Amino acid sequence: MHVLKGKYGGFCFGVKRAIDETERLGENNYILGELIHNDSVINKLSERGIKTINSLDDVNFTEKDTVFIRTHGESKKTFDRAKELGVNVIDCTCPFVKDIQKIVAEHYSDGYTIVIIGNPTHPEIIGINGWCENSAVIVNSAEEIELIESNKLCIVVQTTYSEEKFDKIIKKITYTKAKTVDIFKTICYTTTKRQKEAEVLSKLSDAVLVLGGINSNNTDKLFEICQKYCKNVFRLTDPNGFDYEKLKNFNKVGVVLGASTPTEQFQEVISNMEKVTEEIVTTEIVESEDLKNAVETEVETVPEENVVEASVKEDAEKPATKSEMEKAFDSIKKSRDFKVGQIVTAKISSAKDDGLTLSMNNAKKDFELPKDEILGEYSKSEYADKVGQDIRVMVIAKNPIKFSEKAMERVLKEEAEIEEIKNGKIFEVTVSG
Ligand code: SF4
Repeated sequence: MHVLKGKYGGFCFGVKRAIDETERLGENNYILGELIHNDSVINKLSERGIKTINSLDDVNFTEKDTVFIRTHGESKKTFDRAKELGVNVIDCTCPFVKDIQKIVAEHYSDGYTIVIIGNPTHPEIIGINGWCENSAVIVNSAEEIELIESNKLCIVVQTTYSEEKFDKIIKKITYTKAKTVDIFKTICYTTTKRQKEAEVLSKLSDAVLVLGGINSNNTDKLFEICQKYCKNVFRLTDPNGFDYEKLKNFNKVGVVLGASTPTEQFQEVISNMEKVTEEIVTTEIVESEDLKNAVETEVETVPEENVVEASVKEDAEKPATKSEMEKAFDSIKKSRDFKVGQIVTAKISSAKDDGLTLSMNNAKKDFELPKDEILGEYSKSEYADKVGQDIRVMVIAKNPIKFSEKAMERVLKEEAEIEEIKNGKIFEVTVSG
């Protein structure tokens, strides 16, 4: 069985940040609302004595107590109430949700009617609505927007909303009484990437498992997308409790993880699959955009509901040329060996005048690392003493394969800077055009 895994599955940036923060929590700490939609994570927290509460008024707080605000955020009233009660607050509202709250608060004070496209019962939407005194009109269609009696509209959208649906709604608005309409596409970038990836993965798979908590809105959206492109899609709330025998006759099985699903659960899924099938080869989808294009070229000729059948079935009467879909699939299989940008650990096997020779586990031959791609001043004698030691390098080209230590250092530095920016670091840019 070939298992396809998305690159962006598992904890998103916001959830990971919140989970990391909970490491600081102890017995005097409360989480307002379920931290994430995942039972195993919630159970682990409660084992550490961290209580989940539904309202600040459920507890007689002491000054030692701390309340943790989850990624979905809370209303302004909740923050005000925490101040009144004198309770400490750790605010882990995801920065993307904070941005929406800010847009809503500012536009509301400028006299706009706030429109939120999303699920009215979802905590994120309830929280956002709390930044405009619960006055927002929460909608799911263009028609509902057209009916709003207001001169000025500010439209925002739930971070985990389907991008496709949002675009359709906005394009469909043909009439509005408002003279000014400000539209903010506030779907978070991880949602967009995950949804695209789920689409590609489900087009390439015979069956798809979508894993995420029962109340997880983003997992529901991923499930919907996969159902559109694959006939055999299963929604799992945890890796156990599913009859894996159902997968026995499928060749390619995609596994999609929601944003609040711990990445380790992917391994649990694989362990369960191993009980029903002899050999499993796992491949991570790397270039979802390129693959998406290849997949789209292929599906132009077949009805959407038949995409998987058309792409995967072996047909003896077909000419032996490879379809775009098969080529795309082959490219995934090849990328299992090395991917450009991948960081690998190799052993220094010799030091020569022009650089190093490296060996790697499971590789049949040795590789060269030219001295120009090595950090610092290259000295053959110095490296001769390091023969047998590990070195980390980045793949910078394939066919022929090339490695670089310098490129790895540069990319890691950039990634660290991006991570700091994502965590709120103020940074400067030069306007170039
Ligand atoms: Fe933040 Fe996006 Fe994750 Fe929601 S899905 S917590 S908005 S990063």
